Amino acid sequence: MSQVKLIVSNWKMNLNFKEAKILVNNLKKINFKTTPPINIICPQFILLPFVSNLLLKSSFILGAQDCHYKKKGPYTGDTSIELIKEIGCKYIIVGHSERRQEYKETDKTVKEKVDLILSEKLKPILCIGESEIERKKKSYLKILQKQLDICVPKNLSEIIIAYEPIWSIGTGLTPSLQEIIEVKEFVYKFLKNNKNINKVIFLYGGSVNSQNAKEILIDAKVDGSLIGGSSIKIEEMNKILTLG
Ligand code: PEP
Repeated sequence: MSQVKLIVSNWKMNLNFKEAKILVNNLKKINFKTTPPINIICPQFILLPFVSNLLLKSSFILGAQDCHYKKKGPYTGDTSIELIKEIGCKYIIVGHSERRQEYKETDKTVKEKVDLILSEKLKPILCIGESEIERKKKSYLKILQKQLDICVPKNLSEIIIAYEPIWSIGTGLTPSLQEIIEVKEFVYKFLKNNKNINKVIFLYGGSVNSQNAKEILIDAKVDGSLIGGSSIKIEEMNKILTLG
């Protein structure tokens, strides 16, 4: 790939210790003929220390799938950013639609998480996306604008935005090239004009696989991708990460 892309693997609630080890060992064997993408691996929390060790001396970078919006306190069952950072994560996915839907996370909570992540000098990967109804009603740009407006602070030197249409996640459906480009340009423009952010790393996520990766990553000229289902399949990742 001529431009170095950012590829984020979201393993979600998949893989046990044995499976994670096999996958990481195989990822480390990938033969990159040109400059490799920047690869972020986001396992479930209990796997983080284990995967952190497996990734030592590799070019893969550790990330987390979420964090709590408070630094510490009485939040039974949650994981603090302090531990996420101590274990070696550099990036944190935030505002994923599965968290917004399953745990009723609002834009306000997502913004609190973004602020905390930035204050800890880690990098948020902020997910935004519209539902199927919102896409059909053509209100998607309004929805995305609201998410960006609430969740993104002003005057950042850079921000990573993952555009993940909810109707595309895990469904096999993807927007057309033109639809992805429209959102990409909208996001760049909105964040420049309204948040004074000139460097936006725009990722597309939703049913990316080895069949459509070239069109999405190269033809739509996005800056990278957030990959769920395909990220735990070595044959898929081998092809996606070595796209020429
Ligand atoms: C995701 O969960 O962020 C995602 C993009 O999932 P999938 O690739 O499986 O659609």
